[in-house]
Amino acid sequence: MSHDYHPSWDYNLVEPGNALVRVTRACLQDIESLVELIAEDISDFSIKTYFVDLESSEAGRFAAGTSSQPVIMLDPQNLLHWQEITGAPLYEIVSDTIVHELGHALQEARGDEDLDEDEAESFAQQYKRGSDVSWLWREGPIGEIPE
Ligand SMILES: [Zn+2]
Repeated sequence: MSHDYHPSWDYNLVEPGNALVRVTRACLQDIESLVELIAEDISDFSIKTYFVDLESSEAGRFAAGTSSQPVIMLDPQNLLHWQEITGAPLYEIVSDTIVHELGHALQEARGDEDLDEDEAESFAQQYKRGSDVSWLWREGPIGEIPE
């Protein structure tokens, strides 16, 4: 099922700057195989990212109702701020954020009414470690995560 949601309906789109555009492109390329894996089970699955002012301290947000083709919004200022605080590479901040929000999209696709923060973060961290993360959309809730 498709949707026609666009973040500009609810948020101000912002100019991310060249460095962030480059890094985000690289992150999206690197998670392509994860997206393809998900698309084997959820047809037409693909993600779209936008740079917006989230008007909060969040680095990213999944647009509710878009789980069939997830819309993930990134806040450039908050991403850079988070990088400054943690000292982690921008690539890692952006990648963790996108995969975390992707986790929320999968929770919604699964039919969850409340999107679990711990599970989304666990999904992002396990993905980063190179673990099999298909438990999120194939096997269900966090209690069943294989180590
Ligand atoms: Zn979250």
